[in-house]
Amino acid sequence: MPREWDLIVVGGGPGGAAAAAVAAVAGLETLLLERGGTLRHKPCGGILPEITEELIEEVFGATLPPEVLAEQWELRLRYTPPSGEANGGRVRESRLLNVKRDHFDQWLRDRAALAGATVRQNARVSDIDVDGGFSVSYSQRGEERRATAARLVGADGVHSLVRRRLAPDAIATKMLVGQRLVQVVGELPADFHCVFAGMLSPFYAYSVPKGGLLKIGSGMTEEERTDLMPSLDRFSKWLEQNGVADLGKVVQQEGWAIPFGEQQLDAAGALLVGDAAGLCNPLSGEGIRLAIESGQLAAESIIETGARSPVPDYRNGVAGIAQMVAALHRIVLTTDDETREQFVAAELARP
Ligand SMILES: Cc1cc2nc3c(=O)[nH]c(=O)nc-3n(C[C@H](O)[C@H](O)[C@H](O)COP(=O)(O)OP(=O)(O)OC[C@H]3O[C@@H](n4cnc5c(N)ncnc54)[C@H](O)[C@@H]3O)c2cc1C
Repeated sequence: MPREWDLIVVGGGPGGAAAAAVAAVAGLETLLLERGGTLRHKPCGGILPEITEELIEEVFGATLPPEVLAEQWELRLRYTPPSGEANGGRVRESRLLNVKRDHFDQWLRDRAALAGATVRQNARVSDIDVDGGFSVSYSQRGEERRATAARLVGADGVHSLVRRRLAPDAIATKMLVGQRLVQVVGELPADFHCVFAGMLSPFYAYSVPKGGLLKIGSGMTEEERTDLMPSLDRFSKWLEQNGVADLGKVVQQEGWAIPFGEQQLDAAGALLVGDAAGLCNPLSGEGIRLAIESGQLAAESIIETGARSPVPDYRNGVAGIAQMVAALHRIVLTTDDETREQFVAAELARP
C-alpha cells in the first residue's frame, strides 16, 4: 500500500523536532504531529549544558536566537551537599544556558518546518496501527484524521502513547518533579543551584532565576508522591535559612515527570526517542540534550537504512546514551547522604 509520508514523528518537543529536522533536510517527506498549540507549555527548568549550543547548530542549522533565552541566559552551576552551603560552591568550567522552554520548543518546531517538515500543531495522536508501515489516527481542531507512513518515531514524552500502544507490556517507572515560580525579595541568586540532601529530596532540589522570579524544583519517587509539594516547602525554607534567597509569593506551581529506570528504544518497528525511550539523566534531570541527540540518531538511522528496518542501526547508535543513563540510574538507586557528600566534594575538587 502506498504511504503518504516517509516518516511520521509523534510529539514536537526537542526529540521530535530534532528527528523531523534531520529527516526533512535529507529529503524525507516528514510529518510532525504535536498535540499542543503555539508555545505549548512544558514544565521544565530550561537549563542546558553549554555543549548543547553546538548540537543545536548541527541539528537545526542555526544558533539559539535571543528571544528563546531567559533574561539571565548564562549561568554557572552551583552544588551544595547535605552538610550545607558552607561545603558547597560553583563547579569549575560550568557554563549553562538558561532558556524560556516554551519559546525554545516553538523555535525548534519552526526550525523543523523551515527544514522542510510538515508541522501540524493542535494535532493529538489517539491511535496507531501497524500494517507493514504505520497508520496514525489523530484529531486536529475537532476533526478526526489519519496519516500513513513507512517509518514512525515516537517522541511523545514520558507518558508516550506510541510506547503504550506498540509496547503495552513495557514498564515505565517515573520520577516526579515539582516546580514553583516564586517572587524574591531583594537580589535573585545568580547560579543554577543544585542541592543534594536526603531531607529535601531523595534525588535533587534546584533553583534557577527565570524572568525576574526564582524557579525552584525537587524530585520525588512515585510512591512518595504526596511528599512532592511538602519537599518544595522544605526547600523554600532551606533557601532562606542558608541565605540563598528571601522568598515571597508563589506565582505558579506545577508537577510533571521524567522517566526513571526502564528504557524502551523501539516498539513494533517504531523508534522511540528522548523521554518516550526513557533517555533522561536521573541524577540531574537533564533530558533536553539527550532528546535532541536521540532524535537526531533516530532520523539518521532511518535515512541510512532505507528500505531495511532502522531498529538495529538505531539501537547501536543510541547505545552510548542508553548505557550512560542506565549507569547513572544504578548510582542514584544506591545514593545516601554520605555518597551525596562525596559526590559534591569530588565535583568541586575537579580541576
Ligand atoms: C519539572 C521538570 C524540570 C526539568 N528541567 C530540565 C532542565 O532544566 N534541563 C533539561 O535538559 N531537562 C529538564 N527536564 C527534562 C526534560 O524536560 C525532558 O527530558 C525533555 O523535555 C524530553 O524531551 P522529549 O522531546 O523527549 O519530550 P517532551 O519535551 O515531553 O515532548 C513531547 C511532546 O509530545 C507531545 N505529545 C505527547 N503526547 C502526544 C500525542 N498523543 N499526540 C501528539 N503530541 C503528543 C507533547 O505535547 C510534547 O510537546 C525537566 C523535566 C521536568 C519534569
